Amino acid sequence: MTKNICYIIVLSLLFITSCKTIFKISPYQSYVESLKSTGLNTTNMGQKWTKVGDSVLSNPNNGLSFPFKEEIFFREEAPAAIAYQISYQKSKKIKISISTSNKNGVFLDFFEGIENRKNITSKHLKDTILVYESDKDQVLLLRLQPQLLINEHVIVEILEQPKLGFPVKNGKNNDIKSFWGMDRDGGERKHEGVDIFNKRGTPIIAVEDGVVSRVQITNLGGKVVWQRLGFAGPSIYYAHLDSQTVSEGQKVKKGEVLGLMGNTGNARTTSPHLHFGIYTSSGAIDPLNYIFKKDSVPGKLKADSKYLGKEIMLTENDQVLPVKILAISTSSVTYQDIEGNVSRNEVLNIYNKKIKRPANPSSAYLLEKPAADGVAIGKFDPTEYYAVLGFKNSFVYLEQNNVRGWVAAK
Ligand SMILES: [Zn+2]
Repeated sequence: MTKNICYIIVLSLLFITSCKTIFKISPYQSYVESLKSTGLNTTNMGQKWTKVGDSVLSNPNNGLSFPFKEEIFFREEAPAAIAYQISYQKSKKIKISISTSNKNGVFLDFFEGIENRKNITSKHLKDTILVYESDKDQVLLLRLQPQLLINEHVIVEILEQPKLGFPVKNGKNNDIKSFWGMDRDGGERKHEGVDIFNKRGTPIIAVEDGVVSRVQITNLGGKVVWQRLGFAGPSIYYAHLDSQTVSEGQKVKKGEVLGLMGNTGNARTTSPHLHFGIYTSSGAIDPLNYIFKKDSVPGKLKADSKYLGKEIMLTENDQVLPVKILAISTSSVTYQDIEGNVSRNEVLNIYNKKIKRPANPSSAYLLEKPAADGVAIGKFDPTEYYAVLGFKNSFVYLEQNNVRGWVAAK
């Protein structure tokens, strides 16, 4: 909650980035430079790698619901990248965990903004956890991409959590029973906080590290504790306590007991509860989303992760095409087509019907793609057994002697 000059990003364990860090050249950019200096950027693979890295930023996965989890299998023969768009609200924090099972690692590039992207961190990493919070709502973009010719299995988890802790020990969201903006004193004033009910004597705890700025008894709030978060941060207001157990000027840690729940002040006719408020330099704000607890266990993936990296047949515009499964998440399945383009579906839709289209393959070679200039990847013998798997325009996709490829058909 402290006001920061640029952004707050806490990168635990493996690296710490501060506001002072200025990336002259990011690890990603320096890798692009190394591709140029070795001439790899002009190869087919090198060009695909650069292209997917750029294009994924304008086509990120923006349908995330939290808690989100995705398993990705990057294959060495098909350059790919994954990007996520995250709508960040200032009352929350975003926790991103990344683990790489093959330990080759990936480039992580994290941006604020979509059109005017500001790269706020750029790393080549194996396993990491990063927590993002800001004093402003933001649209965030996260890109993951391995180096060229690398197989890497990545698991990503993205959680949205309230920025502050819950102010009542062992309290639940359901204990919040009176909300921001409700009428008070017959409509004379509005409720400038939320009320959290529990038994008398339940510990009231600090929602964040800070300093106790005031310990008072007032007509309205009864026994109250004020806590200041950071140098220019907001003030947190805890009211109607039965007793206060801290003193003015005391430094407190998140979770430390400040007092016990009661019904002092104008709450003496209601059952014991905590009135909880947040005051910024521009007045009171609705504290609900700052403390409302969120699920932290992601749901089931949309398909079994055994399909990762596997080729399946997909029907699209009356054609049946081979695609490889790049990623499976709690909200979608991501495919990569023969050109390297990435698309997403809510379910895994395998086309496994018999192909009815008559195929009369005329070419002597199996081609890499359905085009006359496709590279030959094997010989084709129309007199031997083959299975037709798919088709596109005047080409059929078939398998003969365990090799799959495209053949022009009459
Ligand atoms: Zn209240």
